[in-house]
Amino acid sequence: MLIAPWFCDGCGRTNGITRYQCQHCRGFNTYDLCDQCILRASTIHPYHRFALVQQAGAGTPNWRPPVAVQY
Ligand SMILES: [Zn+2]
Ligand SMILES: [Zn+2]
Repeated sequence: MLIAPWFCDGCGRTNGITRYQCQHCRGFNTYDLCDQCILRASTIHPYHRFALVQQAGAGTPNWRPPVAVQY
């Protein structure tokens, strides 16, 4: 399974297991946070909603592809 590379905009670490993506900052420049930084999202990236888009550990049986959000 191919996982798109990404990095956390909070701490800069790359390709974390859990990825939360800002639902407002989409398009060219997505804003993503790891499972650590999501805990302080209200401080580092306030007023925006995040959605879990990836939880792809090896051996995660019920991994589902990200759901496209329509506006
Ligand atoms: Zn982070
Ligand atoms: Zn945002």
